[in-house]
Amino acid sequence: MNQQQKMAEHGAVEFRGIQKKFGEFLAIPDLNLRIDPGTLVTLLGPSGCGKTTTLRMLAGLETPSAGQILIGGRDVTALPANARAVSMVFQSYALFPHMTVLDNVGYGLEASGLRRAEARDAARAGLELVGLAGFGDRLPAELSGGQQQRVAVARALVLEPEVLLLDEPLSNLDARLRRRVRTEIRELQQRLGFTAVYVTHDQDEALAVSDKIVVMQAGRIAQADTPEGLYDAPNSAFIADFIGEANVVPCDVLRVTDGMAEVRVMGLTHHLPARGFAPGAALMAIRPNAIEISPAAAGRAFGTIASAAYLGDHLEYELASDHGVLFMTEAAGRAPLAPGHEIHVALKASGCALVPAT
Ligand code: ATP
Repeated sequence: MNQQQKMAEHGAVEFRGIQKKFGEFLAIPDLNLRIDPGTLVTLLGPSGCGKTTTLRMLAGLETPSAGQILIGGRDVTALPANARAVSMVFQSYALFPHMTVLDNVGYGLEASGLRRAEARDAARAGLELVGLAGFGDRLPAELSGGQQQRVAVARALVLEPEVLLLDEPLSNLDARLRRRVRTEIRELQQRLGFTAVYVTHDQDEALAVSDKIVVMQAGRIAQADTPEGLYDAPNSAFIADFIGEANVVPCDVLRVTDGMAEVRVMGLTHHLPARGFAPGAALMAIRPNAIEISPAAAGRAFGTIASAAYLGDHLEYELASDHGVLFMTEAAGRAPLAPGHEIHVALKASGCALVPAT
């Protein structure tokens, strides 16, 4: 690599044919993933899908059984954690309770050989970065949970890593604080332009902060895409149901014209982007808000309201029909329809997507 290529690769991450076994158990069969410099990429998926293992291999805390990991274009597979240009923010914060906030932030710098005065100056700058200037003399216990997590972020950032790794960084915070801290982390990442790899099992958090989300299932990448791409164009029923909720029902693609498919679904005809599907059997993922309620014409009801719930800004219904129970939502604006009420439905133009039948 010449100097220019090296600069362009600064902060890039690449997993090449990574495999990880624990004894006989194959946790990650064959992972191939590139993370572009300056982006925030989230590893998302159900418990046990391999998110933490992937992050720990990147950090150098776990050794791959096969394959290569590149950071900044350099093969780091054989390097120990402290020789990699990464730092990690843990869900437990892992602050030293007996050290002041300033000493906590400066600790890694001093440990790597920086003189105490310089480490403290850098730590002060780090605290300023996360909005905690003036908090340096306190002990961690004298800060709120959100502030402690910001100290952990500052401590990781002062080491000037090429890549910041965040392992469920918000899981110890309550719901309101979680929203604020995730926004702060995202703003900081965009302002400073570092690469971040973020592990979470919370899809809202992933949708809110990510440039790209890598959804994992049983050690494999199920789909890697932008938040919008995953939501609007899921490539499987698993993704459709995992990212936002969806009713997944069988359908028949009748014909495809100019990229639009005419589909027969639950006795209704619907037009939507074909996304490469050819005529034949498929599945359709229907978002709960893509089903529109209309009054049932005499003798022609689609289904019956099975349950209704008022949730302030929207209503939730379960609709019993010949096609199974459908979950739907409607913006609040009228009293909920009573269970037993017969209705007809139509599908809205957006909120439906074809997914493969298998
Ligand atoms: P969670 O959201 O629950 O933290 P995860 O997606 O981070 O899950 P991992 O912790 O990466 O999942 O685990 C992936 C798989 O590897 C799981 O089946 C887990 O049981 C297994 N595993 C992880 N660490 C070890 C280990 N040290 N020894 C044996 N198996 C392990």
